[in-house]
Amino acid sequence: MTTYELYINDILCDLSSDEVVTLLYQSPIFSSLDSIQSNRSYNVALPPTPTNMQAIGQAARPEVGKLLPQVKNIIGISSGKGGVGKSTVAANLAVALAKLGYKVGLLDADIFGPSMPKMFQVEDARPYAEQIDGRDLIIPIEKYGIKLLSIGFFVDPDQATLWRGGMASNALKQLIGDANWGELHYFILDTPPGTSDIHLTLVQTLAITGAVIVSTPQQVALADARKGINMYTNDKVNVPILGLIENMSWFTPAELPENKYYLFGREGAKQLAEDMNVPLLGQIPIVQSICENGDKGTPAALDETTITGRAFLELAENVVKQTEKRNAEQAPTHIVELKK
Ligand code: ADP
Repeated sequence: MTTYELYINDILCDLSSDEVVTLLYQSPIFSSLDSIQSNRSYNVALPPTPTNMQAIGQAARPEVGKLLPQVKNIIGISSGKGGVGKSTVAANLAVALAKLGYKVGLLDADIFGPSMPKMFQVEDARPYAEQIDGRDLIIPIEKYGIKLLSIGFFVDPDQATLWRGGMASNALKQLIGDANWGELHYFILDTPPGTSDIHLTLVQTLAITGAVIVSTPQQVALADARKGINMYTNDKVNVPILGLIENMSWFTPAELPENKYYLFGREGAKQLAEDMNVPLLGQIPIVQSICENGDKGTPAALDETTITGRAFLELAENVVKQTEKRNAEQAPTHIVELKK
């Protein structure tokens, strides 16, 4: 058996079945990857060359329940299905909240399909770690007034899809507990679509103030959105639903601004919100610029002079209103206990 110890930035290793690679890292995120044993080839992107390789002797991560003491509200953005615009809504909501003057953090917890690096045009960013109070903490990237971290900064997404559940959960815990998020009014979590181990990790790590569910008006999307609502309101989880967002509500062509075409059905999410007795936080139409701005890395919410910019600001105001209502009327969320 051959054992390698590597101190490097970018590696491509071709391993035979009996070889072990140990990655020594500066940033704590890489403890998830610290021992890879395989006959597959891995391509793992690492941040700048470590200056201090010793993780040993570091102060321990605060225990669950004591993480993020300066974060006031944690909002989980979820959807039943993929492709309904959950990440687009999360990015624009974060931007709109920052425009309203709040301190905002955004964690791309969509660990198997991280899209925030592209949506914020920071694909080449490699966050570094800094010694703070005896611990190496990852410093979030700052863009458009938002603190941002994504697993996409650290790992090629194609590799992340190969991770076992435990590795993804560990990486996520590190992005939460080993990063310098500081003081935030709103910490937005872009979660993977559907219900998954990642959601379980999140509710076992953080007291999520409330969840926002994104759906198109289409019946198949709504059926899954209902499951998403039930996952949070389940009596073992008990995370309040702040509301539903109907995305892709209708399409209006630029040359016929009065016309609305209901491509995915009409007001389905509005109806679901009524049925499940949760607020409808907003209806966002299909607009070419929302898609284009997402690809360009300049979220539509940056420009409040446009109709879409205003729609996202209004949405953010509704989220704030519902969060304040929830905090006034309901007890704080409890972290879900790990079953031994
Ligand atoms: P999800 O996170 O649910 O998988 P995304 O946010 O990645 O979905 O959106 C899927 C695609 O739809 C992206 O190309 C995005 O730009 C586009 N999109 C999302 N919402 C809208 C909208 N309201 N108008 C136009 N395009 C949209």
